[in-house]
Amino acid sequence: PQKGDTVLRVNKIRKEFGGLVAVNDISFEVKAGQIMGLIGPNGAGKSTSFNLITGVLPLTSGTVEFMGQKISGLSAREISRLGIGRTFQHVQLLPNMTVLENVALGAHLRANSGVVSSLLHLERESEARLLKEAKIQCERVGLGDYLYEKAGNLALGKQRIVEIARALALDPTLLLLDEAAAGLRYKEKQDLAAVLSALRDEGMSILLVEHDMDFVMKLTNHLVVMDFGTYLAEGSPAEIQQNPAVIEAYLGG
Ligand code: ADP
Ligand code: MG
Repeated sequence: PQKGDTVLRVNKIRKEFGGLVAVNDISFEVKAGQIMGLIGPNGAGKSTSFNLITGVLPLTSGTVEFMGQKISGLSAREISRLGIGRTFQHVQLLPNMTVLENVALGAHLRANSGVVSSLLHLERESEARLLKEAKIQCERVGLGDYLYEKAGNLALGKQRIVEIARALALDPTLLLLDEAAAGLRYKEKQDLAAVLSALRDEGMSILLVEHDMDFVMKLTNHLVVMDFGTYLAEGSPAEIQQNPAVIEAYLGG
């Protein structure tokens, strides 16, 4: 896609859990080559929105289009193959495997159906190819010195970057990151921000979910704000910070 093209179009997506409306007819677009923020207090419906977009959860109603193609209704595996990579709010690495193995295996499992059968059928040659590709992605995000470290031995900030490398190994057009900065120290946040801006400068489209406004405000010029499942506001960081409904949502809790 060209910079500024619509990569993702989320149209009135809705998710009900029993009587709870976790995502209430939310619409927004993500443009190519930009970092967009999706923010809101805890429980706003941000992670659920990611799960709806990526096919992890079925929609109650609404549609999602990616690169002009309707993807709502497809499986999570199909959606990831089409080019949407993601990370989860809680780190999902295999702590006793190396960084390289995590990136290679994670990509392989997501690209192929059936965990056990895919492990059994992984030929030597494709294993070498996967490791080579994983190494390229690790180096792309500055993990070149950590390839053979056990993932579980790394600091949280590095683990989050390993998860990004794993998402990149499927060659996505769009990356969805769920609270990648949560719990990180100042320096780790700066390192993460540098990785994300470099990816953006390479043309990657990124949707950042954050609970903490400060981190995302420095990286984006466009934010969508949710609260209690509903769409609250949209605009530049300056506009959002002055929006009375947003201030109320964050301070009023
Ligand atoms: P956020 O990521 O913005 O903090 P979530 O999307 O995780 O918010 O949650 C939105 C709301 O949906 C919350 O009230 C949460 O308790 C509820 N919720 C999330 N997942 C489930 C689920 N699987 N079953 C029932 N309720 C859920
Ligand atoms: Mg969440």
